[in-house]
Amino acid sequence: MTKDLGRINGKTQLIGLLATPIGHSLSPTMHNLAFKKLGLNYAYLAFEVGNEQLEDVVTGMRALGVRGFNVSMPNKMKIIPYLDQLADSAKFSGAVNTVVNDNGTLTGHSTDGMGYVRNLKEHGVDIAGKKMTLIGSGGAATPIAIQSALEGLAEISIFARNDAFFEKAVENVRIINEDMKDSNCKANVYPLEDQETLRAEIASSDILANGTGVGMKPFEGLSVIEDVSMLRPDLIVSDVVYNPVKSKLLEQAEEAGCKTINGLGMMVWQGAMAFELWTGKEMPVAYINEQMFE
Ligand code: NAD
Repeated sequence: MTKDLGRINGKTQLIGLLATPIGHSLSPTMHNLAFKKLGLNYAYLAFEVGNEQLEDVVTGMRALGVRGFNVSMPNKMKIIPYLDQLADSAKFSGAVNTVVNDNGTLTGHSTDGMGYVRNLKEHGVDIAGKKMTLIGSGGAATPIAIQSALEGLAEISIFARNDAFFEKAVENVRIINEDMKDSNCKANVYPLEDQETLRAEIASSDILANGTGVGMKPFEGLSVIEDVSMLRPDLIVSDVVYNPVKSKLLEQAEEAGCKTINGLGMMVWQGAMAFELWTGKEMPVAYINEQMFE
């Protein structure tokens, strides 16, 4: 009988996650399951790191020659000055969730939006040439807007409520219209309180996307859509919310006959996109879903 000597040996490459709090993260389980399934010699570990330790930790990661790491709150923006370069996904969203170390050169990427777009594709929806109404302008909504524009979305109408995030919505629209020279996406911003404009923009959109935490615990049972007559059967409705898996918005949309896409796929695919950047291999997503979410 051959002995089980485990997966870790002298050649194992480290991939980390730098965030706080961190104990709830699903990323270590997801990536280590995928490494094991594909027989890849990497190990993924979570490190409790806040803004104060971040610079030292990045210096240490570079010195150790790790293959890369994920970054989550509160470090997604603070990490930028410690990196060597940014991919467009991170440059235009102003945040990084994945770092790749190529022989000492650290490149920041934002795979949240890539995961969102890829998940839509998995559901048979190609965003190229489409119009989207997006609600929100925070950490989840911003990369959705930016990456969708990078990947050929024709038009986006961003609605944000009158809180600290409204200015960020204005800034996202400016970036899409002015800074993203290779994108032809036309962006507009409106206050979420303007329900008549919301109705009109949804009516001329192919996709309605909720990029806010409305519907997620502890706001379970709430929806960004108050009047369900804004929904119609050929509208595609997606939500960043994954807990519960079927948010109030998706319940409303299902009832109206819309195609619905929940936030679980975006979460798994943002990890799959990072996995691919580090390993050059496709994450076995069906296997991950089966092991972790079914
Ligand atoms: P954030 O705090 O950065 O942004 C919150 C956004 O929601 C802002 O635009 C804010 O204006 C808006 N908002 C908050 N309360 C609102 C309300 N009552 N009505 C209308 N708008 C409201 O948060 P975030 O990091 O963007 O996270 C938002 C949600 O997305 C959370 O539930 C988070 O768990 C989820 N999320 C999902 C994924 C995924 O992969 N599916 C990834 C990241 C975040």
